Amino acid sequence: MEFEYDDSETATELVERTKAFMDEVVIPREREDFLGGGEMTDELIAELRAEAKERDLYAPQIPEEYGGLGLDFRDVLPMFEQAGRSLLGPPALRVDAPDEGNIHTIEMVGTDEQKEEWLVPLVDGEYTSAFSMTEPMQGGGSDPKMIKTTAEKDDDEWVINGHKWWTSQGDEADILLVMARTNQDAHPYEGCSFFLVPPETDGVEFPRDVPYLGDSWGISHPEVIYDDVRVPEENLLGPKDEGFGIAQRRLGPARLTHCMRFCGMAKRSINVAKSYVSEREAFGSDLSEKQSLRFTVARAETRLHAVRTQVRHAARQIAAGKEARIEVAMCKVFAANVVNEIIDDMLQLCGGNGMARDLPLSYFYEDVRGFRIFDGADEVHLRSIAREAFEDVDDEEMQTVTRF
Ligand SMILES: Cc1cc2nc3c(=O)[nH]c(=O)nc-3n(C[C@H](O)[C@H](O)[C@H](O)COP(=O)(O)OP(=O)(O)OC[C@H]3O[C@@H](n4cnc5c(N)ncnc54)[C@H](O)[C@@H]3O)c2cc1C
Repeated sequence: MEFEYDDSETATELVERTKAFMDEVVIPREREDFLGGGEMTDELIAELRAEAKERDLYAPQIPEEYGGLGLDFRDVLPMFEQAGRSLLGPPALRVDAPDEGNIHTIEMVGTDEQKEEWLVPLVDGEYTSAFSMTEPMQGGGSDPKMIKTTAEKDDDEWVINGHKWWTSQGDEADILLVMARTNQDAHPYEGCSFFLVPPETDGVEFPRDVPYLGDSWGISHPEVIYDDVRVPEENLLGPKDEGFGIAQRRLGPARLTHCMRFCGMAKRSINVAKSYVSEREAFGSDLSEKQSLRFTVARAETRLHAVRTQVRHAARQIAAGKEARIEVAMCKVFAANVVNEIIDDMLQLCGGNGMARDLPLSYFYEDVRGFRIFDGADEVHLRSIAREAFEDVDDEEMQTVTRF
């Protein structure tokens, strides 16, 4: 089931070529080398990246000067759905989190020297990066105002002290983007800054790689201690004390790209389930002939279409120079719940096979759960949406009631 979304010619052409790459290269390799308990090895990803480069599909969202295709955000967004149809797709096309968002951040606010040093190897896949913001119990989590990590100036160096966790792929990364408080007197939503910290710097420690749901193939999520970590002044990333603004500018587009990647996962799950129930018989007919099951698929397609439409609307707002904070929050919370429900339902439709590692559904099921938590938990987005919703309470609506 396909729809037209009035995407640009460039976007449509990119989607078609990405779909061909996924169908001809990525998904066959996924079946051969990954499903059934295989590993997402560096060699496998390198081979897929070489083919993506060959097909002129690699890193479409990155400016050409850093090794990408230099396409507009809205033109690239629909191809994220195609990439998301396999867990191997996003790293193959270098549209994978967290590097995609980190690359965007450095490109957005980095100095020329920082861009020169980090962007080309990051885009090329030679380097990886990590975003180090969330902190353990007494620090910043859903409420970033609570960030406790500090960075203090000592001559021409910054000295960072703090404790982070959930720094995705931090212990494998070549560069850490660390958020720390640089101004204790500022409003709690201000006064934080970002720093580029090479993980081999004295005082950076990874005491524990937290085991988590999906860790059999996914990336690591270590705790990180920053103990008197010294970095030079030039490692400040973006303007001092503007860390929250930078994080917002990173997270807006990154949340939309996440929505689209997960749409791809949901769409593939629907296709796998449709194929299973069309072959499987029970109680005298193909499962695909049972009305309740057909309705489950129909509901999934309907809700997925709503997510895609909503994401495109938010992307249009961003392209028009608007912050689109509420629109993005709505996309994030709606998409996360829709794709979680779809993948759960489609796994159910495949019976015991849905749980097997032979199909991608069990991997998707484990991977998608975090989407309701990272990049802001459901409740955090609902809180912002609710605040906005209650801005325009209309007293006149109660006139009939108050008259009596
Ligand atoms: C797979 C994964 C990858 C991640 N990668 C990164 C990363 O690379 N870098 C990084 O810095 N962080 C990362 N995180 C951390 C993530 O951003 C946080 O888990 C998330 O912001 C929630 O913070 P917390 O875990 O501290 O939850 P808490 O702040 O402890 O909140 C717990 C729960 O309380 C509820 N809640 C919170 N606020 C409210 C409210 N106002 N009203 C009602 N309910 C509320 C929510 O349900 C929330 O899930 C990752 C997390 C996961 C799961």
